[in-house]
Amino acid sequence: MDFEVCPGLPIQMSSKSIPPDNDRLDRIVAEARRNREQRNRTYREQALRIYPWICGRCAREFNHTNVQLLTVHHRDHNHDNNPANGSNWELLCVYCHENEHSRYLDNAGGGNSSGNVETTQATHNPFANLKTLLKDKE
Ligand SMILES: [Zn+2]
Ligand SMILES: [Zn+2]
Repeated sequence: MDFEVCPGLPIQMSSKSIPPDNDRLDRIVAEARRNREQRNRTYREQALRIYPWICGRCAREFNHTNVQLLTVHHRDHNHDNNPANGSNWELLCVYCHENEHSRYLDNAGGGNSSGNVETTQATHNPFANLKTLLKDKE
């Protein structure tokens, strides 16, 4: 391909042209996405080759008619960690897989919000009434 700028090109032409960077970026992004999808397909296929088609949690068995419900879980939750021996993979059905991830989020998020509940009792102020009573007297 020859994209060399012709030295004889009139100046107006170049001011009209769209910067090619956006186009190139789009291509790069699209390619990265394609690579990722390809890799995802690959590790799934590998995992399905290595392991029996059984959910690691509920032990449900799968065959060619419903294998799309069997997903590859990453034990360390790092989808980029795909050792060829499959040590980071676990086959889970979609339900157990979802379960596994929400469990992980619960643990990681520290959803312990019951720390400062006891202060709600203090919202009723017994002296609020007294104050108005005193005011009425004055
Ligand atoms: Zn399952
Ligand atoms: Zn997973």
